Amino acid sequence: SGALTQVSLDIKQVSFTYPQQLQSALKDITLTVKAGQHVAILGRTGCGKSTLLQLLTRAWDPQQGEIQLNGIPLSELDESTLRAATSVVPQRVHLFSATLRDNLLLAAPQASDEQLSTTLERVGLEKLLPDAGLNGWLGEGGRQLSGGELRRLAIARALLHDAPLMLLDEPTEGLDAETERQILDLLAEVTAGKTVLMVTHRLRGLKRFDSIIVMDNGQIKERGNHAEL
Ligand code: ATP
Ligand code: MG
Repeated sequence: SGALTQVSLDIKQVSFTYPQQLQSALKDITLTVKAGQHVAILGRTGCGKSTLLQLLTRAWDPQQGEIQLNGIPLSELDESTLRAATSVVPQRVHLFSATLRDNLLLAAPQASDEQLSTTLERVGLEKLLPDAGLNGWLGEGGRQLSGGELRRLAIARALLHDAPLMLLDEPTEGLDAETERQILDLLAEVTAGKTVLMVTHRLRGLKRFDSIIVMDNGQIKERGNHAEL
């Protein structure tokens, strides 16, 4: 099957319990996201926001209900198609102890050094370049990144991957107000035309979203747009 250029999602009565847990993390979640729509996901810590995003990448499969991508159940979609269709900025960004180049290439193995440098500039990480350039060593035995730099690195990976579905898990968590504003502006620019699910704790910037869902204890408690909620 060819690469998908647009993605719609249909989450139908999905319930999910983590292995060896008694309480379900998601209960009867139903959500439709049309191609190109931007959805913000809010809710208290532990309510299931990250779990919902993880189900979309098939890190886990629900015990009940079904998730469809462009009308095809995720379980019937081949893994490479799903991977190619989805860019993820995870809540916990992983830095490999490897060169800056290799830390980016895992998202886009074909990217040229020029593309990597351009992307680093785009996310405001060009200051990592002067020392050893893309050969600079990161992580253990090398340069550690600050929280904000890690977020930017994850966004750079997502940009290089350039998929039609973007799953963003608190991309500005722990950032100062000015950096947050920069990152949200950058995200608004690069997510135009893509289907977006973004988990956030912040009420700032919600006007930009087509729809907002509020989760509580594994369920969707409220849904609407900025004007309605
Ligand atoms: P936060 O805002 O703090 O990131 P969240 O809404 O993203 O919270 P989740 O990470 O989705 O919450 O977690 C939902 C529930 O599932 C929590 O009670 C959490 O403890 C539990 N949970 C998460 N991951 C696992 C796991 N791998 N195994 C068992 N339980 C888990
Ligand atoms: Mg989370």
